[in-house]
Amino acid sequence: MPYNRAHREPEVFAVDTRPGADGFVYCKGCGAELEGRGRVSQPRARVSFMMCESCREIHGHDLMPMPGSPTFCYRCGGKDEVFVGSGIAPITYHVCPRCVPERAARYRAHDFETPERVVEETKQAETA
Ligand SMILES: [Zn+2]
Ligand SMILES: [Zn+2]
Repeated sequence: MPYNRAHREPEVFAVDTRPGADGFVYCKGCGAELEGRGRVSQPRARVSFMMCESCREIHGHDLMPMPGSPTFCYRCGGKDEVFVGSGIAPITYHVCPRCVPERAARYRAHDFETPERVVEETKQAETA
């Protein structure tokens, strides 16, 4: 295969040990459980929305809150930590410190340089 996939490995998430945690996904806008969106029962389901109905109404979008809004982890419902990258048009990263503690620690140290693709992380350009 001619493609270089070196930097496209999927994110390794920390194990969520809470009872039943694997059975739910959570609204990116408020952290509420999204009903009927179990990760286990529908492993191949296409994600068409990542927010509850009221958040979709508030933000006018199915997947992501408006830029500048706090976000919650789709995976565990915890509040995402927000990091702003460096550069002329810095990217804002929303990272769940519970699910991706290593990345959160790296961003906390202002290390945004590692080239990698993001699987479940929210990326929002504040200049959008
Ligand atoms: Zn919501
Ligand atoms: Zn999380």
